[in-house]
This record gives sequence, C-alpha cells and structure tokens, in this order.
Amino acid sequence: MAFEGLTNRLSSVFSKLRGKGKVSEEDLNEAMREVRLALLEADVNFKVVKEFIAKVKERALGQEVEKSFTPGMVIIDIVNKELTDLMGGTNAKLAKANKPPTVIMMAGLQGAGKTTTSAKLAKLLQKQNHRPLMVAGDIYRPAAIKQLQVLGEQIKVPVFTLGDQTSPVEIARQAVEHAKDNGLDYVIIDTAGRLHIDEQLMEELKQIHATVKPDEVLLVVDAMTGQDAVNVADSFNKQLELTGVVLTKLDGDTRGGAAISVKAVTGCPIKFAALGEKIDALEPFHPERMASRILGMGDMLSLIEKAQSNIDAEKAKEMERKMRDASFTFDDFLEQMQQVKKLGPLDQILDMIPGMGKVKQMKDLKVDEKQMGRIEAIVHSMTARERNEPDLINHSRRKRIAAGSGTTLTDVNRLIKQFDDMRRMMKQFSDMMGGGGKGAKMM
Ligand code: GDP
Repeated sequence: MAFEGLTNRLSSVFSKLRGKGKVSEEDLNEAMREVRLALLEADVNFKVVKEFIAKVKERALGQEVEKSFTPGMVIIDIVNKELTDLMGGTNAKLAKANKPPTVIMMAGLQGAGKTTTSAKLAKLLQKQNHRPLMVAGDIYRPAAIKQLQVLGEQIKVPVFTLGDQTSPVEIARQAVEHAKDNGLDYVIIDTAGRLHIDEQLMEELKQIHATVKPDEVLLVVDAMTGQDAVNVADSFNKQLELTGVVLTKLDGDTRGGAAISVKAVTGCPIKFAALGEKIDALEPFHPERMASRILGMGDMLSLIEKAQSNIDAEKAKEMERKMRDASFTFDDFLEQMQQVKKLGPLDQILDMIPGMGKVKQMKDLKVDEKQMGRIEAIVHSMTARERNEPDLINHSRRKRIAAGSGTTLTDVNRLIKQFDDMRRMMKQFSDMMGGGGKGAKMM
C-alpha cells in the first residue's frame, strides 16, 4: 500500500512529540526537520514541502501550541489540517451537465490506466443509477477498442465504436449524439495515449475538446511514477485545461508523493483514486481521509461507506441474531467471509482502521489472503450437515475434510477450534449483555 514509508516515519516523529507537556521551539524545529525529510523521501515536490513546513511552523509558533496542555497533539492536528488543505481540502465532485449527457473526456499517457479507469468510472456511475456510455476513442493501439468492449461487456455498459478508420474527433461527436438519442446520461471518452506527450496527441485532444465541449477533462496519472506524474499533469494542464486528476495504482508500494503534490503544483484537484486492477477499485478522493491515512490515523469513514454499499443490511442483522443466540454455523461463517472479502483486499481494509496499519506490520500477524482461501476450502469440504451441526465433526470426519480440501489435519483442527472459541465468546458476550437482549450488539 502507498505511503507506508511516509506513515512510519511520521509516526515516529509524532510519537516523540505526543507525550510532551511542553514543546520548545527547538523540539518543533527538530520535528519539522524530520517531517521535511520524510516528505522529500516520499517524493513530494520540494517546493511544496518547503511551503508546507513553513505553514505548519507558522501556525505552531502562533497561539495554538502555547495555550494547549497537549502541545504535541496540537502539532499533529496542524500537520493533518495542512496536509488536507494541500491535497485540496474537500472532495472535488464530478461535474454534472445542466442538460444530459455529461461528457467526460479521459486523457493520459499510455499505461497510466486510462482504459481501465474509464470502465471503473462507468461502473461507479452505474451504481448510482446512471446510464453511462463508453466511447472507444483510441484507434491507434491495436487492442484498445477490444479492451474497452470486453470491459463494457463485463459491467454491462454499452461501448460506442466506429472501428479504427474514423477519426477520434468524429467518433466522439457521434457518440455524444448517440447518447442523446438513447437517453444515456454520461459519456466517457477513452482517448489515445502515447508514451510521451507529443504535439500530435495534444492536437487531437484539443480537437476532441473543441468538438464535444466536455464537462470534465480527467487526466489519468500513474502514482507509481512519483514526481513524473506531477510533471505530466502540469504539462497536460497547460495545454488542455484539466478539470481533475485520477491517480491510479495507489495500491502499489508507491511512496505517495504524487498524491500530495498534484493539487499544489497544478491547481487541479484529484477527483478519484484507483487502488487496484479490479473493476470496483475506484474511490472518490477525499483529501481529509487521505491525510488521515497518511498520518496512520486510519480512515473509518471510507470503511463505513464501503461496508454500507457492499454489505447486505438484512443479512448483517440476521447474522447478528445468530451470533447472539449462538446458532452460528459454518455456513454463516463462510457467508461472513464472503461479505468481508467484498470490501476489498484485507491489507487495504486494515489500513483504514486507526492503528491497524502498525499492527499489520507485526511479524506474527500475517494478513494472508491465501490463508482465507484455505479456510474456504476446508469449509467447502464439509458436508451440508457438518456445516450446520459443527459438533458432529469427529476425528475421522476431520481426516476426510483435510484430505478433501488439500490441507492437513492440523489446519482443520485449528479452524474448528477457532470456530468453537468464537461461538463460546459470542455466547458469553450475549449472556453478559442480558441473554441476547436488545443491548447486545456484535461488531
Ligand atoms: P491505458 O494505456 O492508460 O489505457 O492503461 P490501461 O487501462 O490499459 O492500464 C494499464 C495497466 O495498468 C493494466 O494492466 C491495468 O490493469 C493496470 N492498472 C490500471 N489501474 C490500476 C490500479 O489502480 N492499480 C493497479 N495495480 N493496476 C492498475
């Protein structure tokens, strides 16, 4: 996950400050020196770092720290707020045309993730009950049209193409007409990318822009390329008037500098962040939440939103009841695991919980997706009756389950023990709360 190095370094600076009853100017200078180095090491633009440190110092030296009983905390709070401001302050929303369709033009260098992001965005809009149209405007890369069509089929979003013999400008124009005629309210135009910015590419993008007059021009940049991503954004912005940036590949171990610098350098807000190759791995970018994550303070809001849009509320309630009266079976266990999986990769989920980022790095706590796969295999190797009545599972049944799931008897024993412990704990918890009375609430 991005920012790991930065988060670690900042945490150690802050842990020194946190306990202090009084922060001298010298303490502050020392801390700021370390924050500065941490940011530079995370590939944040040096001018941005310089201004950032100056602002934090100015505020910290003012009234705020002196008056406080917990000056260390005040400084952390100032860093948090300034970092949030640096990334744009609040979430920059996608534009909406007064009269549909809203036209979104996607731009970016080859390989940045433009085509994938177009589909992710279409999926996001579709989830909000919109009817998007994707447009295959990259006629130069041989597989680009096909790639978009495959993605379109996957998410059931129509793709407009006129093959590779019509000019992208004409394709874009006709696509917008097609959307109007067919009641489609968003048009997402995937344009051609190049390895480097060149005249011809810019000219084509400008012509498309002049023809369809998009409501949004989103530049897709690869966070893994660090400062280069910021430079690319700056060059595009000078020629094309971007309305927003989409930062991709934030799931990789990028140092994260691009996320922090883009807005400050180009003036253009990051509107979305992509955190994976999967089609639903695109999130609206919230500067305040990102700052929180960078500072190792978690991001519970995003986690709750994810849970709300992915977890079936009825099922969750039913599960809660089963936990309370301890009628929780292996089938329910599997069901719960599926629900959690829908939230995305486990290490990303843990990053959103305050303090968990650190726990994750502890040697003996491995967040292992393979382990989850093993557990699933074991449960799938049980018979329906065994899943519903776990007490049935004796030694010989365990041996059969191990063989059937390609695991060992120890694996099976361990899982059943964990399951029993969990049920016992739930039971105790529910008794403690008054025998499954109203006050009992799991999770
Ligand atoms: P385009 O040339 O800009 O259209 O790029 P593509 O959409 O074809 O993406 C290039 C590669 O980057 C593909 O292999 C994508 O799966 C991958 N990719 C795109 N976005 C992300 C992301 O957020 N995370 C990761 N890990 N990979 C991504």
